[in-house]
Amino acid sequence: MTTIIDGKELAKKIRGNLKIECEELKNKGIKSKLAVIMVGEDPASKVYVRNKSKACENVGIEYEEHLLNDKITQKDLINLIEKLNKDKTVNGILLQSPIPSNLDINEAFRKISPEKDVDGFNPVNVGKLVLNQDTFVSCTPYGIMKMFEEYNIDLAGKNVVILGRSNIVGKPLIHCCLNRNATVTTCHSKTQNIKEISSRADILISAIGKAHFVTEDMVKENAVVIDVGINRLEDGKITGDVDYENVKEKASYITPVPGGVGPMTIAMLMNNVIKATKRQNGMID
Ligand code: NAP
Repeated sequence: MTTIIDGKELAKKIRGNLKIECEELKNKGIKSKLAVIMVGEDPASKVYVRNKSKACENVGIEYEEHLLNDKITQKDLINLIEKLNKDKTVNGILLQSPIPSNLDINEAFRKISPEKDVDGFNPVNVGKLVLNQDTFVSCTPYGIMKMFEEYNIDLAGKNVVILGRSNIVGKPLIHCCLNRNATVTTCHSKTQNIKEISSRADILISAIGKAHFVTEDMVKENAVVIDVGINRLEDGKITGDVDYENVKEKASYITPVPGGVGPMTIAMLMNNVIKATKRQNGMID
């Protein structure tokens, strides 16, 4: 029988626990604040940013939004990041991607202080993940690891196949899985014969952004299937990378879209903001 991994419910549970932690911090006189920077008017980004602000409100984290015109210069963007780095009332900084292509997002991520880098994109934090040291793990891979924990899915010795190698999802996922002793294979747009590779996966994670790319014949019987993709169909509906209805019959565990990885990403962002707040107040190492 297939188990549907309920990311929405798990995220609610995590947010509930964080709300208690946030309350406890407030009782000690410690407030937690996330600052979000968005450049331009990307419609999908607006939805993501709104969801993040709602989650902050729900947990009790203060939220500060910096909406920048798409004509902003790199210098102005870096100046804002440096100002937020110095602001003692701000515990976490998030730069919503994408940003206009004339701006250098890598420099911007580098400039966010590693202590406030709650998205885990600063190279210092990426390096710590690679070295399996405590760090801010980027939120989508971290959310997927939490799902595995909650559903007692042990990665040790398993063949994990990841479709996609982006800096924000695929690459950190490789190290999250490797750190849990999985044998990891990554596929991308230049990979030959993906079907042959994916059908050997005990755990198949798709993060490529193509609706219904993963069909039933690409999946091993009883595999765990995690769908990171968010794709908007012509009728406006959101769907994942996986042909859910058909793959569901074959998988032992599967995440739906919506209601799977998406809510977990935001819950882990909240988790990272609380962690940053505690660290900056000397409550944890
Ligand atoms: P991205 O930066 O566009 O990366 C896509 C990756 O998929 C690239 O590595 C690309 O290969 C690979 N790829 C594209 N077409 C392929 C094909 N036909 N066969 C094999 N590999 C292919 O995307 P992303 O930011 O990682 O996001 C991926 C998806 O996840 C999107 O739908 C995004 O909306 C979604 N997402 C969801 C969440 C969430 O919380 N649920 C969070 C972040 C992203 P190359 O490297 O060779 O180009």
